[in-house]
Amino acid sequence: MNFLKTKDGLILKRWNSYIHNRTFRYFLLGFVGLLLVSCFGALLSIHLNQLYDVAAMSYHVQPTPSGQGSAQKDSSGASSSRGASSVLPRAGSASGSGRTSSAQKQGPVSSGKPPEQELPAALPAYQSMYPNLFVKPAAKKAAPDGKVVYLTFDDGPSNLTMPLLNVLDRYHVKATFFVVGKTGKKDLAAMKAIVARGNAIGVHSYTHKMNQIYVSPAAFLQDFAKMHDLIQKTTGVDTHIYRFAGGSVNSFNKRTAKAILAEMNRRGYTYFDWNVSSDDALAHSTASSIYSKVIREVHQHPHSVVLMHNTNTKKATLSEVPHIIETLLKEGYRFETLGDMVDNTPYIFRLPN
Ligand code: ZN
Repeated sequence: MNFLKTKDGLILKRWNSYIHNRTFRYFLLGFVGLLLVSCFGALLSIHLNQLYDVAAMSYHVQPTPSGQGSAQKDSSGASSSRGASSVLPRAGSASGSGRTSSAQKQGPVSSGKPPEQELPAALPAYQSMYPNLFVKPAAKKAAPDGKVVYLTFDDGPSNLTMPLLNVLDRYHVKATFFVVGKTGKKDLAAMKAIVARGNAIGVHSYTHKMNQIYVSPAAFLQDFAKMHDLIQKTTGVDTHIYRFAGGSVNSFNKRTAKAILAEMNRRGYTYFDWNVSSDDALAHSTASSIYSKVIREVHQHPHSVVLMHNTNTKKATLSEVPHIIETLLKEGYRFETLGDMVDNTPYIFRLPN
């Protein structure tokens, strides 16, 4: 028999019979197909891993906040101080293709996470705005001894500022004025007089437009810087204190309050809300409601920061200041001014989580 002649001939004949077997052909086709699919899958997985890795890196490098342009994305280590950011590498140069190649050099990627030490933490752009807006906070903050009242007047100067200063002088009482950006001749003179007569002055807001200043930390800083500058040019005072327009907790800063506060604290400024409100901004307030609310609430605290206003329309407030001062002096309170040496914690509102 032919196929017994050689070994090779025998194998060839068997192979031929296998090849012509339909089941075997399907089996072979399936095997090769499976092989191709698994090769393709492995390649795809490696490629996706690398893509994910690069994406994760560029996400890390992107600065997060605040709608400011991308031009000044400073990056640095953990702490920053005045002017320090300018010598540090730009985040922009650390991202993009340079990063891609270093990610690929790591070879097979298991976790998809880049090594942390390679990534400088990106700082928000607003941290490098207004490099002169930094103050050294008071070394020691303290609560005062005895019964103390801090009278505070917001939203001035106005044509009622000089009359109010006259009243305060009459009782040898000093108060704290959180002022806004009014630049008329009389307003600037009144702002000057606030300081010249021994009262404290702080930033309230330049525009007091709450729907604008709380849009972002950058917008807040811009408004703050403008007011701080006007106070300094007009009175010579480089004030370290401020009061938020509408208070630190209001309906306009829900998204931005945390970031704005963190930034202002980083810059060393001290803000004061209040623990006594005269409610003189309410439409239904009267001279007697202002007086009785202030006295009643002052009695509830050893130390009070009293919120009042000093706009052109606050005649009732002005008319009640002598009465309020007389009563509280008789009861043994003394009046002091706010500054960054005053511990603000009893007077600031708690941010909702
Ligand atoms: Zn105000």
